[in-house]
Amino acid sequence: MWVDGADGHLVVNSRYLREGDRTDIYLDLIHELVHVSQFSDGMELFDSHYDYVERPTEIEAYRHAVNEARRLELSDQRICNYLWTEWMSRNDLKRLAEALNVNCEI
Ligand SMILES: [Zn+2]
Repeated sequence: MWVDGADGHLVVNSRYLREGDRTDIYLDLIHELVHVSQFSDGMELFDSHYDYVERPTEIEAYRHAVNEARRLELSDQRICNYLWTEWMSRNDLKRLAEALNVNCEI
């Protein structure tokens, strides 16, 4: 799931919608809708001056998703599982989790 940087549309892989974890999909929707809002405000979503895990637009989007995850009473470890993606190093996950005040045991 991602936002097209050219026109601000939300793009979703249909297989992910069919087979993905419902909670992950819900949190991704929150994350990506923050990017849609950022795009409509004229913000640069893919500012390469920042690493992905430090990019202000990503931190803001993850913060909204994590706030919702906490409202749902997900554990920090479950939130860490949500935050981690296969292309993210352990160090990147650690940096992202610290920025979001999530306690990841890695
Ligand atoms: Zn994002």
